[in-house]
Parts: sequence; C-alpha cells; structure tokens
Amino acid sequence: MLSYRHAFHAGNHADVLKHFVLVQLLEYFNRKDKPYLYIDTHAGAGCYGLEEAFARKNAEFEDGVARLLARKDVPAELKSYLRIVRDLNPPGRLRLYPGSPCCAAPLLREQDRMRLFELHPADNRLLHQTFAEAGSKVMIKEEDGFTGINAFLPPPSRRALVLIDPPYEVKTDYRTVLTALKECLRRFATGTYVVWYPRLTTMHARELPEKLKRLPLDSWLHVSLDVKKPSEDGFGMHGSGLFVINPPWTLPETLKTVLPWLKDVLAQDDGADFVLESQIP
Ligand code: SAM
Repeated sequence: MLSYRHAFHAGNHADVLKHFVLVQLLEYFNRKDKPYLYIDTHAGAGCYGLEEAFARKNAEFEDGVARLLARKDVPAELKSYLRIVRDLNPPGRLRLYPGSPCCAAPLLREQDRMRLFELHPADNRLLHQTFAEAGSKVMIKEEDGFTGINAFLPPPSRRALVLIDPPYEVKTDYRTVLTALKECLRRFATGTYVVWYPRLTTMHARELPEKLKRLPLDSWLHVSLDVKKPSEDGFGMHGSGLFVINPPWTLPETLKTVLPWLKDVLAQDDGADFVLESQIP
C-alpha cells in the first residue's frame, strides 16, 4: 500500500524538527574532509511546491516552517536550515519546501555521495527530475529502502549518515525499523542513523523510542517535540520524534538551546512540550 504522499505534510512542524537536525548532523560531518555517504531510505519527492493542491489542502507548512520564517529572533543554530529554505524561494515568498534530499544536497561536498530510496513511482519520478543534473553523485533507487540500504553498508570511507523516515501508514513499519536497524548496525556499527517517528497515542508509536534504546548501542539521543495535546479521539499526530544513533557530542547542547524556542514558536495549544535525553559516553 503506497497511499502516503509527503506533499500533504511538507514543511510542517515534524519536517522542521527533522530537517533542522539533519542539517546540524551534516554540518558536523563536514568538519572533516573525509568523504561520507548520505543515505535516505524513504526520500519522498525531494522538493515540494507549496502553492500546489497537495500542500494547500491542509497548508501544514503555515503552522510549521512559515512560523519560523516570520520571526526576527531565530536562534543562530537554526539559521543554516532556514537559509536552505530561503535559497529555494524568491525573496519574501514561500513557494517551495526542500524535503530531506534537498536539505542535504546543498551541504554535500564534491567528495560526498547521496543514495536515495523512494518506492512511490510518482515521487520517484519527481526525485529523478530534481537530481537530473547530479550525475553519479546521487543514486536513486525505486526499491524498499529498509533492505536496499544493506548494499551500501559499510561505506568505503567508513562514514555515513542514514535517515530512516518511513510513513508508518502500515503498523509493520514500527517493527521493520527495528529489524532494519539491527542489520545496519551489524554491517556498520559506527554509522550515524536517524529514525523519525510520529507522536501518536497508539501503543506502537509510544513504545518505539524505548525499543530503540534496547538495541545494542554505545551512544544515542532521543528528542521529541509535541506541538499540541493528543486529541481526545486519539487520531492525528500531536508531535514527532527523532532517535539518533551515534550522534555528535555537540547535538544535545544545540538542542537544549533551540528546543524551548521551537516549542514556543510551533505551539498550537498549551500541550506543547519537548523531551531531550541522551547517552553519549
Ligand atoms: N524523508 C522525506 C523528507 O523528509 O522530506 C519524507 C519521506 S515520507 C515521510 C516517506 C516516503 O517513503 C514516502 O514518499 C513513501 O512513498 C516512501 N516509502 C514508503 N515505504 C517505502 C519503502 N519501504 N522504501 C522506500 N520508500 C518508501
């Protein structure tokens, strides 16, 4: 079943948290010259037109990235992420939003490579269009990212950042994330892995971070940001979370600075809150 289209959600509060952290991680990777591989197991369409029908339907970006762009008091740590958004758009307008591959692309250097998986044929086609000029630097596969990733691990340079961002439209995604990560860690234990998950009232969503902590890990960080109270009927996402395996030591401090501001700016009611926990030896 492939009914999920990220275009409906592009630039929402969950994209803000995910893409901000992604940019932070890539900037940390760029501190060393040694090449790395950026792998996106669920890449989406790459770039989203916010004036098109999909994105306009619920206009989720209006309560997401648009709120940040309207502020004059943005913390320094968020500026690289917002610069990537602004660089895609005419001055003062928000027509396009960069998905994860388009947040990563401007940060990758000559020596780095990007490997993208996207199963939806329409989004895969859009991804090919976006990266038509990229040559061998970018490889796009219309395969299951959960298993396709194995072909790239370990990378020759022994440096990789992996984003695992499934839609969770099927409950089995929660289990498959764990199975896939176990195999990734067996092949390449020192990679940096980022798992996105939705904050929902369902048991599967609530239990995922605890299950991730029980993997054989030396170092991890968990961050979640709720923008509102869970709905009474239990439907809908009230926030999102990221679990980072082998995070940079700088990430907890960066998040500690930024999360209170993000919580205030993205809050939709007084249920807005965040969690930040980590184990970094
Ligand atoms: N990572 C993107 C971003 O941040 O801009 C958003 C990705 S969206 C949440 C999830 C995507 O995964 C959808 O475009 C969906 O078609 C795709 N997808 C679903 N199952 C997949 C699978 N097993 N392998 C690869 N792609 C898959």
